[in-house]
Amino acid sequence: MAIFKGSMTSLSVANTDESIFLECSNCGDVLPATRVHFGTVKRATGINGRAFKRTCRRCTRAQKKSHKERNPDMVRRWNAERVARQGGTAKASTEMLTTTQKRQKLALQGSECVYCRCNLNISTATVEHVRSVAEGGTDNSSNLVMACSRCNQGKSGAPLSEWLERCRAYGYQPQMQIINEAR
Ligand SMILES: [Zn+2]
Ligand SMILES: [Zn+2]
Repeated sequence: MAIFKGSMTSLSVANTDESIFLECSNCGDVLPATRVHFGTVKRATGINGRAFKRTCRRCTRAQKKSHKERNPDMVRRWNAERVARQGGTAKASTEMLTTTQKRQKLALQGSECVYCRCNLNISTATVEHVRSVAEGGTDNSSNLVMACSRCNQGKSGAPLSEWLERCRAYGYQPQMQIINEAR
């Protein structure tokens, strides 16, 4: 097994070769050096200006969560700044569809999460942007699907292609017809 030991900026973040491994600097897990397992950071000298993080996604998530819990004021400020950037019109995503629209979408999806296909009902389903606002997605109904809160939070602002790659790594079978039709 080849564990990558060189400078992080010399390893392409586009790597999909699962026989190249990275060791998480936090938990020590050895995982394939792909975006499925490692997030990326901006690096002036990296390939396309990005390099893999040294901690695995699971550790990065855990660190982010504990950092947020320790800094609630910072989180509030970030959220306020994000709303301001979006022109102060950010709505809670649950308000972007009427209950009737939510029921129609759920029915189309067979009462399943569009990504992991767990069972959903009108009170457990959350409204999800197929293309995130950061990726140029709109709040139009055509760009909205129903997902479980775990997938919704897992995807967060990630680009659709990256999230679908992660879904496949988790063994999910996303409802591609509905996802591909989203505009
Ligand atoms: Zn780790
Ligand atoms: Zn799900």
